[in-house]
Amino acid sequence: MIRQEIGDGIAVLTIASPPVNALGGDLRAALDRAVSGAIADPAVQAVVIAAEGRVFVGGADISEFGKPARPPVLPDVLARLEASPKPVVAAIHGAALGGGLELALACHARVVGPAAKLGLPEIRLGLIPGAGGTQRLPRLIGAAAAFAMMLDGEPVEAEAALRLGLADVFEPDVLEPGSLVAAARALARRLADAGSPPRIRDRSERMDEAARAAFEARAAEALERSGRLPNVAALVDAVRAGFEHPFDEALAIERARFLALVDDPRSRALRYAFFAERETARVPGLDKDTPRRPIREAAVIGAGTMGAGIALCFANAGIPVTVIETGEAALARGLERMRATYAASVARGSLPQAEMDERLARIDGRVGLEHAGEADIVVEAAFEDMGVKTAIFSGLDRIAKRGAVLATNTSYLDVDRIAAATGRPQDVLGLHFFSPANVMRLVEVVRAERTGLDALATANDLARRLGKLPVTVGVSFGFVGNRMLARRSAAAERLLLEGALPHEIDAAVTGFGFRMGPFAMADLAGLDIGWRTRKATGATAPIADALCEMGRLGQKTGRGFYRYPEGTRRGSRDPEVEALIAAQSERRGVARRNVAPEEIVARLMLPMVNEGARILEEGIAARPGDVDTIWLNGYNWPAWRGGPMHWADGLGLARVAADLDAFAAATGDETLRPAPLLARLTREDGRFADLAAR
Ligand code: NAD
Repeated sequence: MIRQEIGDGIAVLTIASPPVNALGGDLRAALDRAVSGAIADPAVQAVVIAAEGRVFVGGADISEFGKPARPPVLPDVLARLEASPKPVVAAIHGAALGGGLELALACHARVVGPAAKLGLPEIRLGLIPGAGGTQRLPRLIGAAAAFAMMLDGEPVEAEAALRLGLADVFEPDVLEPGSLVAAARALARRLADAGSPPRIRDRSERMDEAARAAFEARAAEALERSGRLPNVAALVDAVRAGFEHPFDEALAIERARFLALVDDPRSRALRYAFFAERETARVPGLDKDTPRRPIREAAVIGAGTMGAGIALCFANAGIPVTVIETGEAALARGLERMRATYAASVARGSLPQAEMDERLARIDGRVGLEHAGEADIVVEAAFEDMGVKTAIFSGLDRIAKRGAVLATNTSYLDVDRIAAATGRPQDVLGLHFFSPANVMRLVEVVRAERTGLDALATANDLARRLGKLPVTVGVSFGFVGNRMLARRSAAAERLLLEGALPHEIDAAVTGFGFRMGPFAMADLAGLDIGWRTRKATGATAPIADALCEMGRLGQKTGRGFYRYPEGTRRGSRDPEVEALIAAQSERRGVARRNVAPEEIVARLMLPMVNEGARILEEGIAARPGDVDTIWLNGYNWPAWRGGPMHWADGLGLARVAADLDAFAAATGDETLRPAPLLARLTREDGRFADLAAR
């Protein structure tokens, strides 16, 4: 696992544990032995640690999580390494991630090659660094920069590492074999000649009051945004401990927080979500050999809320896009909306003016569908109306070039019917962006009955090129996300009639961990969106419908479920709405009662889980993790609860099914009965997660 060569008084220890040199128990033990051996060897004056393969050290061995740690544990190995009286230099040619970077930080100096990437991505797995990263990195590069790096988990490249002080030497010459190790040897030699090796643990010059203030400012921001994530809170505590305690005590605090996270169900949920998201890239029927169609130019039909946002996505990704409207006025409004979005970024300082100009130059506005003829992909974002959509698609059938992918951004409508308006259903699919489309990462890629595999693969690749997270779903009313959301909305309306008030329901939902409750959300989006959908499908929601009829469409009209006095965006309770709700209850002969927050959460969320089970059963989503990824990224489901299906597994499906039976009995709504899949899993004492394993 470790090769050793001694020459000129320097021992070069080369880690060779393919594929990624993960620091599993065997490698830790081998490294520990090799380092001790070099320290004890009188012929050795200094040590270089290098590695073989594409990666330096990829991190911990994830398969060891949740099992008792096999000694020697990494913190102990690194403590002995750092204490070495002979200097140890890391020669980092590739990625040094997690435990890999912590290993490098315990060394006395770091030399990086051009392909080096240094990062502590533990946060993405619901964790924090657990082998000194939260202590050594702040002492080396400053606590604010270190905290930022650990909070976002993104690795830095060689040159940035040198600038930050994370690397001591950047050796750009890779053409010369062994040049990186040669540079590391030279540095090791210099350090050996200079006397006792410099240790990060002894450095305190970057741990002063100014550094603390800079760190605390960033920590406060992070806690404000994501303080309910246990790993974020733990990261703040660990870095702060470095200011408040001697090094070894602070290390112990870090380790304790790390170990607590490994066993914390919230952290496990974050880990689950990370792997579920990665898994969505495996789309049944597609592989790397599936042919893709080239996408060089795009067209977007409709320059409203969604069309404008989608056009920005293309322009941002460097793809020229033609935006098409029915008239000059609507077109001008749409183009102005895009310009204003960029201008706001320039004003915030997040986009240079020159970049805005370049992006705007990629957007061409036109009136008339015939301008879609050059596009390799067309995304239709016109009104949510089957007649409008089929007219557009039959037009596209005549106009679009052969092999163009024809996508609809419909929220609910039947993509098979839209495809049938063309003579080329193999080219038609859904690309369901979320609002605001230029911000939200999620895209549901809707695979219709006759969608070609190459079109589907092209759409998935394109979505990634736009910086999005595509999840492939099947055709059904509202696909996955909105179909489940409809269950929550119906349950929320029903609770209003039974006795809960909008602010009570919203408070229960934010208490559960969502950033916004359903009524605040509806007011923000506009109540007319749901109203139009209900009218089109013959559904009703007595209270929301009544509000719409009163012209209360949400924030945009200053009134919806809440009041928004002049200029406020945070709604306040409105006696008029509460009276309307009470009158509706009375008309139905319902005696209003207090509904506790726990009951509100169960009544809202369990029917969604049940709908998720139906979706899985029908094959509309390929796996429970896809459903969870959609809810985590499109609907702000609290990340530390891992998505609705994972959450239900945690509750126990027997309890979920029993509660649903009780809701059905209490409300008389038989659609609340456990879906067949849920009932079967309950009988088998199974979990949704068992389905993923198949
Ligand atoms: P919108 O009303 O803001 O914009 C629609 C635009 O399409 C209008 O500017 C209209 O002039 C234009 N248009 C209508 N018919 C046209 C045609 N034949 N040719 C060219 N342009 C035409 O609507 P929106 O909110 O942007 O929604 C567009 C689509 O996206 C709908 O299908 C909707 O369901 C879906 N969607 C909306 C959201 C959302 O939150 N708003 C989210 C996801 C999906």
